[in-house]
Amino acid sequence: MLFFRLRELCKGEHVECCLNQLISNELFTKEQLNAWQYKHLKELLLYLSCNNPYYSRYIKEREIDLQKNFESVYDILALFPVTDKKVIKDNYTDWLSNHLSYDNLQLCSTSGSSGIPFKFYQSALARDYKTASKYRLYHRFGIKISDYQLCLGTNYDSKVSSFFQKMKINVNNKYINHRYITDVSCLSFAMIREIIDTINKLDIKSVWGYPSALFEIANYALSNNYPIINKRIKAVIYSGESHTPYMDTIVKKAFNTITIDEYNSVEGFIAGSCKVDNMHLNEDTALYEVLLPDGSIRAYGKGELLITSLFAKDFPFIRYKNGDIVEIAETKCECGSPFKLLSHLDGRSSCFIYNGSIKVPHAVCTHYLPHSDYRTKVDKFQIEQNEKDSVIVRIVLKDRNTDCAGLENLYRELFNNISVCFEYVDDIPRERSGKFKDVINNVKE
Ligand SMILES: [Zn+2]
Ligand SMILES: [Zn+2]
Repeated sequence: MLFFRLRELCKGEHVECCLNQLISNELFTKEQLNAWQYKHLKELLLYLSCNNPYYSRYIKEREIDLQKNFESVYDILALFPVTDKKVIKDNYTDWLSNHLSYDNLQLCSTSGSSGIPFKFYQSALARDYKTASKYRLYHRFGIKISDYQLCLGTNYDSKVSSFFQKMKINVNNKYINHRYITDVSCLSFAMIREIIDTINKLDIKSVWGYPSALFEIANYALSNNYPIINKRIKAVIYSGESHTPYMDTIVKKAFNTITIDEYNSVEGFIAGSCKVDNMHLNEDTALYEVLLPDGSIRAYGKGELLITSLFAKDFPFIRYKNGDIVEIAETKCECGSPFKLLSHLDGRSSCFIYNGSIKVPHAVCTHYLPHSDYRTKVDKFQIEQNEKDSVIVRIVLKDRNTDCAGLENLYRELFNNISVCFEYVDDIPRERSGKFKDVINNVKE
C-alpha cells in the first residue's frame, strides 16, 4: 500500500482520486448520471475537434456544431460513425492526438475476443479510470486496494522478458499491485494440487482467473477430496471467458465463497457484478449502445456492443465495435445502481462453426455438452473447424472406456450438413496467452 502511494506520487497516477469519484457516482440519480455523461462527452469531442486529426477533419467536413444543445448523449453520438479495429488500423496515424506528451502514453497490445492482433495507446487518464473501475467493483464486495489477490493467469510476459524486466514485473505485481501470479497455461493434476496448497497458505482476499481454470481447480478439489480451505477469501472473480451456471455452482462450492464477473477490455473496464449478481455497465466511464441486426443503433437491445470511452482522449474509442454480442436491458436493478444492466454477454461473436450454409454460433456449439448427461464424463472439450465441410470435436474423457455413442450423435445432429470427426485425447492445451479456447474456426470467410 505504501508502494502504491509512492508510485502515485512519482508517476502522477490518480487511481485513488478516480476511485473515490467513481464510488460516489454509484449514488447518482438517472438525471445526475445523464448530466455527468453529457458534460464528459462534450469535453471529449471538443478536445478531439482540436487535437485529433481524424475527428477534427470529420467534425469540420460535416459542419458539426458541438456548442449547441442536444437532447441526450445518444443524439450527439448519432452524428458519428461506427468504428472498429479495421477503421482504426486504416487511419492509424490520424488516430493519435497532435502535440502529445508521450510520457503519458502507454503502448498496449491485445487480440481481444475477435482474434485480430491490435496495438493501441492508453493515456494516463484512461488507464487510471480503468484501474479505478476495477477497484470499484472490488469495493462493492469489501475488497480493498491494499488486499492481496491470487491471479490464476499467465506468466507469459515474465517468461519472455529479460532478467531485469522480469524483476520489475515481479516487484510491480507483489509490492505495488499486491498480486501473486500463478500460471495456468497447462494445468496438470500435480499443478492443481500445488495451486490449491498455495491458495490455502496465502493471505489473500480474492482469487482472480479464467472460468475454465477456476472450474478445473474447483472440480479437482471436490472430486479428489483435496479441499480449498481459506476463510479469508471474500470472492472469486471470473475474467476473460464466459462461464456456465454449472461451472459457477462447482466453483462456489469448492471455494466456499461468492463469485463476481468482470468484463474488462482494451477500451476500458466495461462491466461488473453487483450485490444481487446482475452485471452493470460502467456508464460513468463510457457510453454503451447496441448495433442491431437490422443496422439501427439503440441504447437498449440485443446486438453488437458499441463503446464510447469518455476518458480515452488521445487514442479515442467512439462508437467502437469490440466484436462482442450483448443485450442491454431496460429493467431496474434491486441494488439501486443507476447504471444499465448487461443482461447477456456472448464474448465471441466472430467465432462460428459453418454447418453447410448455416453458421452455428460459439454459444450454441458449447451449449450442447455441458447441458447433456455427458458433462460429468468429459473433462475438457474443444471444437475446431479447418475446412468448411468438416469439423473436429476433441474430447478428454474422465474414463477412456466411456461409451460416447450418445455424445457423438448429439454433435452429428448439431452439425448435420458436414462430417464430424471425433478425437479422443489425453489433454487439450491452452493458447499461449493462457486462455482456453473451446471453439476455434480456422476457415477463411
Ligand atoms: Zn456469473
Ligand atoms: Zn444491481
